[in-house]
Amino acid sequence: MVRHILAIMLIATLAGCAQSPATTAAAQQAPADPLPGTRLSVDELKAQMFHVSAGKRLKPTWPNGAKVAVGLSFDVDNATATLSTGNLDYEIISRGEYGAVDGLPRILRLLDRQQIAASFFIPAVSAILHPKVITDIQSAKQRHEIGVHGWIHERLPLLNNEQEEQRLLNQSIETLTKMTGKRPIGYRAPSWKFSKWTMAQVKAAGFLYDSSLMASDDAYELLLDAKPTGVVELPIERILDDSPYFGGNADGSNPTVDDVFTVFQAEFDVAHEEGGLYLLTMHPHMMGHRSRVALLERLIQYMKKKGGVWFATHEQIANHVKPLITGS
Ligand SMILES: [Zn+2]
Repeated sequence: MVRHILAIMLIATLAGCAQSPATTAAAQQAPADPLPGTRLSVDELKAQMFHVSAGKRLKPTWPNGAKVAVGLSFDVDNATATLSTGNLDYEIISRGEYGAVDGLPRILRLLDRQQIAASFFIPAVSAILHPKVITDIQSAKQRHEIGVHGWIHERLPLLNNEQEEQRLLNQSIETLTKMTGKRPIGYRAPSWKFSKWTMAQVKAAGFLYDSSLMASDDAYELLLDAKPTGVVELPIERILDDSPYFGGNADGSNPTVDDVFTVFQAEFDVAHEEGGLYLLTMHPHMMGHRSRVALLERLIQYMKKKGGVWFATHEQIANHVKPLITGS
């Protein structure tokens, strides 16, 4: 969700700097090794491909004869991604702050109106800076889920440090456990980005499920180095994420909320037809704006009218599919 923002910041930074001819020439040079994959053996490529990959498909029948399971998730990033980079542009920081001030409360009011419980993935620093996000979620009428979403929305491949990654994961779990009174059982990587160590750390921490990857429309068991992990993947997709439509420089003009509704609706219709899973990723600082919450409410009303929908938290969905891993 911060990909676009980072790209824009980078472009803005470059545009704002007078570059010397030498700098420009260096920037235009091709990377030293742009195609390392061409020189790897098939065995080496297999090791890379299947370090983290999709195992058993977990496609159950849904409770109460429902045709489709729908999980609404919200990544409560607020300003953490910006703060993680040391960028103190308060215009951008305030865009994130909107999530805590108005976005989340408006979303919680919608969920209460529609009587739907959702999952909230929260960077620990986001909760520390605005503890009201936790009390708002926990004082709602619905029993929402709170999951881990990094310490300060750190990009793990950029961090590129196994020990630091473990320290931040431990801090994140401890902080959310202390603030919510319950140890989270769901994990979503910041920006959905794994480092080469993330899968092993997620498994070792005992998470029931991850929701950062997208190898299938259905839930599946995650494999680590081609071996079953017992960890459920609840797949996300950029098609079903508010960020590509409303993040970065989208600024509400294009696409319109009607365009986004059309895509979200078409994805839902096929998930319904296939007896599948439909998971939306949203952000209070993006989706929490007035016209966009109205879009989400219209979508929920459409789903309810169509019928056969099991609205559930990610935790409930993961618990429902997990027995398929062992066949029990
Ligand atoms: Zn995020």
